[in-house]
Amino acid sequence: MSKTLYIVVPCYNEQEVLPETSRRLLEKIEFLLQKQKINDKSRILFVDDGSRDATWSIISDLIESNEYFAGVKLSRNKGHQNALLAGLATAKDRCDAAISLDADLQDDIEAIDEMVDNFIDGCDIVYGVRSSRKTDTAFKRTTAKGFYRFMRLLGVDIIDDHADYRLMSKRALEALLQFEESNLFLRGIVPQIGFKSAIVTYERHERFAGESKYPLKKMLMFAFDGITSFSVKPIRFVTLAGALIFGVSMLAMVILLLQKLMGYTVQGWTTLMGSIWALGGIQLLSLGIIGEYIGKIYQETKRRPKFIIDKIEIK
Ligand code: UDP
Ligand code: MG
Repeated sequence: MSKTLYIVVPCYNEQEVLPETSRRLLEKIEFLLQKQKINDKSRILFVDDGSRDATWSIISDLIESNEYFAGVKLSRNKGHQNALLAGLATAKDRCDAAISLDADLQDDIEAIDEMVDNFIDGCDIVYGVRSSRKTDTAFKRTTAKGFYRFMRLLGVDIIDDHADYRLMSKRALEALLQFEESNLFLRGIVPQIGFKSAIVTYERHERFAGESKYPLKKMLMFAFDGITSFSVKPIRFVTLAGALIFGVSMLAMVILLLQKLMGYTVQGWTTLMGSIWALGGIQLLSLGIIGEYIGKIYQETKRRPKFIIDKIEIK
């Protein structure tokens, strides 16, 4: 009894890569079919994220030419994460498992076989992890490493060198769609789902055509979103800084008073210095406390599911 597999591919202005990508993915699907690991209801689902080039017309032609191709078109550009989610939501009711993959095939599609094997062995989530970052620039490599370390420091459960190349079973997808937050950072949310998971490593390739749709600015925004979506620790730092500065100001006040008593200072110096520090400290401290409450509201408005049931056994 083989399973239905959907390969979900978000595409934003990818006319240069689509012909080659579709050819390679079709080969992969045919190979898996032949091995009887998947059934003929499996599809390659392209999500057009509001492209302005010929992406959608290429996708429609592909759908015409072969039944294994399918497409979703978004009303406008909503960004990689949202496009991916739209694809996964579409796949959810039609598949047993879905693999998400970038259109430029930087993630080695040979890892798909192993992902499917892990799924057949009972894993609900299989993470694709880069074994090396040789093809990335030194800049991207160091910033990425720093980012993962920083996220971990902030207490976010995130898998090193794993981007959005992963397999998710139907029930993992159902769980994912229960996360109702509007700020999506999938690689932070997926580990929250739990279930049995596995890791598959692969070599990351270079983009074979076209250019990156993630310029530095988008990358920074993405990283910042990731941090603020998962951690209120930055607010804690403000509170801590406020408390520290206030403490220092109290000490300074004592010193300033002593100086005044010993007659070292000019008129007005003590009160001026004392109040600048004390007020600054109190302000930061109160900002931090207000921030704490905003943080709570923010956590609440997310309406994240509080648990996800793995199994129920009642005799
Ligand atoms: N992408 C998207 N919407 C966007 C930006 C990117 O759907 O607004 C897709 C893009 O087509 C590709 C994937 O996200 O399939 C990853 O983008 P890219 O390869 O440009 O990022 P990089 O590998 O350089 O980080
Ligand atoms: Mg890429």
